[in-house]
Amino acid sequence: MIKLQFIGGVRSVTGSTYLIKTDTAKILIDCGMFQGIHDGERRNYLPFPFNPPDIDAVLLTHSHIDHSGLIPKLIKEGYRGKVLATKATVDLCGIMLLDSAHIQERDAEWETRKRLRSGKGPVQPLYNIAEAAESLSHIQGVDCDVMLEVAPNIEVRFRDAGHILGSTIIELWVREKGRKIKIVFSGDLGHRGIPIVKDPTYIDEANYLLIESTYGNRQHKGIKETIDEFAEAVRETLKRGGNVIIPSFAVGRTQDILYILNQLSREGRLNHLNVFIDSPLATNATRIFLKHPECFDKETLELISKGQFPKGAPILKFTETPEESMAINRIKSGAIIIAASGMCEAGRIRHHLKHNLWREECSIIFVGFQAQGTLGRQIVDGAKIIKLFGEEIAVRAKVYTIGGLSAHADRAGLMDWLSHFKTRPKRIFVVHGEEETSLEFAKTVHEKFLVDTYVPKPLEEVKL
Ligand SMILES: [Zn+2]
Ligand SMILES: [Zn+2]
Repeated sequence: MIKLQFIGGVRSVTGSTYLIKTDTAKILIDCGMFQGIHDGERRNYLPFPFNPPDIDAVLLTHSHIDHSGLIPKLIKEGYRGKVLATKATVDLCGIMLLDSAHIQERDAEWETRKRLRSGKGPVQPLYNIAEAAESLSHIQGVDCDVMLEVAPNIEVRFRDAGHILGSTIIELWVREKGRKIKIVFSGDLGHRGIPIVKDPTYIDEANYLLIESTYGNRQHKGIKETIDEFAEAVRETLKRGGNVIIPSFAVGRTQDILYILNQLSREGRLNHLNVFIDSPLATNATRIFLKHPECFDKETLELISKGQFPKGAPILKFTETPEESMAINRIKSGAIIIAASGMCEAGRIRHHLKHNLWREECSIIFVGFQAQGTLGRQIVDGAKIIKLFGEEIAVRAKVYTIGGLSAHADRAGLMDWLSHFKTRPKRIFVVHGEEETSLEFAKTVHEKFLVDTYVPKPLEEVKL
């Protein structure tokens, strides 16, 4: 009997975790953290719905925390096997899981201080820096496009997903009692044409497919139009004498934005740019990017060989210390500040919002998906006042949302990827999207391809 359990990353964009159970093995695909939604954070503390030592192998599609963030918890709770991922993902996890542990420790400290004041006991972080560091020794690099036997009768192959550096689609074959079935996990699928990473690989066949649906009901503008829109937003803000604030995932978006600013500057469309990457994580991630040319598309390889990327025409400053970061707060105009987190839930971006959000000459450019319940989503949805560090801040800056820079395929991109299956899956599970989006996308797919589609519920288990 082959079973598939959807532990997280269903009817939500965070917490991706899927479990394959056969008579002889248990394989976990991703082990992601729940983020944003109020009860999301609480869900991270619930026990896993399986016994961690019983898992035979963990396969990781990519390094984003909503896919990898609970790996330290898995190891802490007794998993002793390997976590397989591409080499670029292994390197990125090295910085991202430590960063995540740092955030956990800091939040627990803050919460503890608050609780002690009200006469309650302390809280423990989900995992600490030492535990995250220990978990890294379990993560092992593999190559794309190579068949690997990960447990008896289970073979897998990682394929490029074109979402961020090292991101993959996972093909998994199970042999059992004379039958062989293939399950494909799309992971997060990239947006064709975005800079730096290669485009997603098309897959020929599957019996079952899990497909992400983050933008399953939306259409991005084309890349050229998107870049024009971005250039215009930056140009107008600088003309008004404000700063441009870009909340960005440290890994992926930040490097894409640098690439585009670089291009606009080389083409003379934006001049005298003063760009700050105010995120030690993004700085380290950019270094890791440069170590993995195997993930780059042709255009990026060419620019690097000519010395035009990531350094090039704009003045680019990587700020490391909190003092350097605070110094940016004194700049009133002409700065382009890129900082994490992408959904404004944590990190230095919150300080930059505090200093710029209330000034109408400034602008905030959102370049990534803003999940429900996050500060980023409140601003995108038009909140007039938001709360930061216990203070009310007016939203007067101009707010731009540039969907075309997203690292996720839009509806047309997902449908195009699906149309390349030569043998259609028997059943398609629509995952990694907000509930209404996944339901709508499931309907679209069913109508177009006449296959059975289904949007699973958290913890639901199905027989394959
Ligand atoms: Zn992702
Ligand atoms: Zn994701």
